Amino acid sequence: MSNNSIIPVTKPYLPSRERLNKYLDGIYDRQWLTNNGQLVKELTVRLEEYLGVENLLLVSNGTLALQIAYRVLGISDAKRSEQVPEAITTPFTFIATASSLKWEGVEPIFADINPFTWCLEPKNIEAKVTENTRAILPVHVFGNACDVESIEKIAKKHNLKVVYDACHAFGVKYKGESLLKWGDAATLSFHATKLFHTAEGGAIVFKRKEDLELAKKLINFGITGLESIEVLGINAKMNEIQAAMGLSILDEIENNLATRERVWMGYIGGLPKELTLQKISENTTYNFAYFPILLKSEAQVKNLASKLKDKGVLVRRYFYPSLDTLDINFLSNSCAISRDIASRIVCLPLYSELNQGGIDKILETVKEVV
Ligand SMILES: *Cc1c(COP(=O)(O)O)cnc(C)c1O
Repeated sequence: MSNNSIIPVTKPYLPSRERLNKYLDGIYDRQWLTNNGQLVKELTVRLEEYLGVENLLLVSNGTLALQIAYRVLGISDAKRSEQVPEAITTPFTFIATASSLKWEGVEPIFADINPFTWCLEPKNIEAKVTENTRAILPVHVFGNACDVESIEKIAKKHNLKVVYDACHAFGVKYKGESLLKWGDAATLSFHATKLFHTAEGGAIVFKRKEDLELAKKLINFGITGLESIEVLGINAKMNEIQAAMGLSILDEIENNLATRERVWMGYIGGLPKELTLQKISENTTYNFAYFPILLKSEAQVKNLASKLKDKGVLVRRYFYPSLDTLDINFLSNSCAISRDIASRIVCLPLYSELNQGGIDKILETVKEVV
């Protein structure tokens, strides 16, 4: 089989070379590659405008975005206390959600998800609150809004911080406003496989300006002047080449979104009704970032994946495994719903260039299997 006929689960969006070159020419003219350069400043303003948010900070990747948010909000801190701080999170997500907590000395406590929206279930969050709980870290999984109102109530009642891992939720609106406005902070990943990307990169959207100001110091080693270092920092800066990629893609974002929506509609029209799809929360827009389908059993998933593979189509069991099953030093909290969903889920290929011929080939196999 030639490489051309392979359908991968995703392909990075590549902007026009001409457009990218224009930004790169500017970098060569200025000879400024990193440390809050002109393109990073420009991308910050353009993203705040596009997303409809304030207090956005660009960083080098989505995992550091989470870690910086924990530090700024005092969820993890350098002065390790006697008791290990805990954050309540979901096991139905990408590993970085939980591993970033553990890496910062915060114990991820898994609470189970809602079986329909696949986001953290507020009732299950409250049951996990202890005197060591400092934060809730929900994920807007596949871009679907969490029950943000209930989560805010629980956080207020127990005096907890809320950080949303919004890595899938680029551009999503809830009740007509950016979903990223919820929580003390919301983080984005601009990894190559995401809807909007900078090859590697990410951002944090803070609720409060003073948190943004502290984060700016933390991502640059805590350096605040030529001869002053004020806080314990790290290196999490975005560079100019990353920003050039981001600006080029942002220039073409409408085209990117429209082509993804076309693929999404191509699937929806021909899906057998035995399949279950994610229930999108009320008042939430959809960004067409993923196309997850829920099958009847794990056996069906394996059957579908292998049949598709024979035809050169690669799907991904995403998210699998459920993070509460991992043996990497997480406490064991058994989440039955997350385990069940993770065992039966598959993400179908979704990227701008996927044509109707490819979509039909995939749909045919899906019908055969269910
Ligand atoms: C991609 C992703 C991350 C990690 O982002 P990186 O930029 O790859 O570090 C974290 N959480 C979720 C939900 C993601 O999808």
